[in-house]
Amino acid sequence: MSIAGNVGLADLPRICPLISRRVQSGEATETRVVNVGNVHFGEARPVVIAGPCAVESRKQTLAVARAVRAAGADMLRGGAFKPRTSPHDFQGLGVEGLKILREASRETGLPMVTEVMDPRLVETVAEYADMLQIGSRNMQNYPLLVEAGKSGKPVLLKRGMAANLCEWLGAAEYVAKEGNLEIVLCERGIKAFPAGEYTRNVLDLSVIPAVKAETFLPVIVDPSHATGVAEMVEGASRAAIEYGSHGLIIEVACDDGGAARPRCDAAQAIGPATLGRIVSFVDSRTGHRAMRKAHAV
Ligand code: PEP
Ligand code: MN
Repeated sequence: MSIAGNVGLADLPRICPLISRRVQSGEATETRVVNVGNVHFGEARPVVIAGPCAVESRKQTLAVARAVRAAGADMLRGGAFKPRTSPHDFQGLGVEGLKILREASRETGLPMVTEVMDPRLVETVAEYADMLQIGSRNMQNYPLLVEAGKSGKPVLLKRGMAANLCEWLGAAEYVAKEGNLEIVLCERGIKAFPAGEYTRNVLDLSVIPAVKAETFLPVIVDPSHATGVAEMVEGASRAAIEYGSHGLIIEVACDDGGAARPRCDAAQAIGPATLGRIVSFVDSRTGHRAMRKAHAV
């Protein structure tokens, strides 16, 4: 007896040949370096992306952007279009938020990644963003993946919260099939026992070496959405680096932004001081402290 639609690792060469280490040969199987401005995913030095969950105002975003720059982050994150459980909750500032992010990116010199949820908005978001984020809820939104692929922009593809490795890599293949191999994968926690009890999701660290075995695409970790608890973010970040993650994407809030308590995901936001410790840890583990300092403005 076999089950329809049931896929396992043995099916990967068929599901995603374009990104498979097992199918490709020679140079094509080496970890791919995905460049976003002056930031390089997939090199020995892990990339630290940080910023607010949502762009709430110009003042808040600029304050957080300056703080994460000072703490040593390489890249800025922030949501202008927010996927919220309730349609009555803050949905993000939309295009106004994109403009604010662009300004914060220009001022700090940090390349910027932001989420796009709607295939019809890929072109607009791509005008402002250096990298397009496909969120967990949209990992299997195939028309969105195709449009992101066509945009030619680097894509940060988050793992669906209930997706196994085959489904996640299958989603990446949709982007690759459009001729866009500028893809970075992001583990952000899965809905597994006991998600929701003492942690928002279950951080699946074991998937990092598994991803690396199956594909040459870089993989990073989001300890913020994985844990949902600010106090857990530092430990989760360290663990992810120990497991071989090519980087981190972390939500940060700061007091002088006029939004000490963010409207979105406040319980998982860390402060700039904690981010600074995480950056120091990343640098100490990889011996790139001097290099990162040299890059600082
Ligand atoms: C986010 O990074 O802003 C976000 C909504 O994350 P996820 O899609 O992983 O839930
Ligand atoms: Mn968030």
